[in-house]
Amino acid sequence: MKPATYLWHDGRIKPWHEATVHVGAHVLHYGSSVFEGERVYATPDGPRYFRLREHTERLFRSARIHDLNIRHSADEIDQACADVVLANGLDSAYVRPLVYRAGFTFSLAPDPEVPVEVAIIALPWGNLHGDGVHAGIDVCVSSWHRPAPNTLPSGAKAGGNYLSSQLIAQEAKRGGYAEGIALAPNGLLSEGAGENLFLVQRGRLYTPPVAAGILAGITRDSVLVLAAELGIDVVEGDLPRELLYTAEEVFLTGTAAEITPVRSVDRKPVGKATPGPVTRALQDAFFGLFDGRHADRHGWLTPLHAS
Ligand code: PMP
Repeated sequence: MKPATYLWHDGRIKPWHEATVHVGAHVLHYGSSVFEGERVYATPDGPRYFRLREHTERLFRSARIHDLNIRHSADEIDQACADVVLANGLDSAYVRPLVYRAGFTFSLAPDPEVPVEVAIIALPWGNLHGDGVHAGIDVCVSSWHRPAPNTLPSGAKAGGNYLSSQLIAQEAKRGGYAEGIALAPNGLLSEGAGENLFLVQRGRLYTPPVAAGILAGITRDSVLVLAAELGIDVVEGDLPRELLYTAEEVFLTGTAAEITPVRSVDRKPVGKATPGPVTRALQDAFFGLFDGRHADRHGWLTPLHAS
């Protein structure tokens, strides 16, 4: 991955190489960070941010859970996200706001004076799974489970949680799979290393509930809204692993993965091993928002204005 020219760091746009942290930074030792992953799409009307305010709100919620005090308002963060995209002259981008405890202390309960900084990176980035977004990907069920809700809260998008995601993704990659799906501590389905999970059975859409130790994805929410509009029945509920082997369709959702069909699970083909009709209808409704085929009925797209 190539670095961008500029990023936003602690209040201003800087050249990429000028944004540094000290090796004593609390975040490097203890993983005290929270972050977001967001997208700007190149639409026929120009670059449009997708659900920016919802991402910023989740960033603040994650920070609150982990006692990271963001010294900027939500409006300032929204503006900074737009500024860094504009500074790099990007029409479409993946945007990564990061909040981290930058000060030095070995304390596990640092005083509020220990500095917390914000950095925002914007880069051109296609789909996480490349052509898999069209053809479908091969996934496995991971031998790693998600952390129990009374260990690490999955409702916070915290850097530390991604040690779990790395174990799942790395094991999958070693096995020749594009992604791993983890079970919740109770053995039921939860989510992918960096995506939420959906299954289709007899035309009905199923997805694990927030209580299954998942991140409440913003793409997941978008899919739930679009499915309702398309008249697709949705069930948010506990799902056993074996449904992955009998489902007619399986797909993953996330800002990076968008809506990525799954063509096999543990080498067993899903349906006809090509994206099924429900997946394709949802992809059409989702991607159609960005290529001008569908109107933005929910106010999910916002233009980027320079500060
Ligand atoms: N679960 C995990 C663990 C993730 O990292 C992500 C990506 N942020 C998601 C789900 C999907 O969330 P979103 O649609 O908000 O990107």
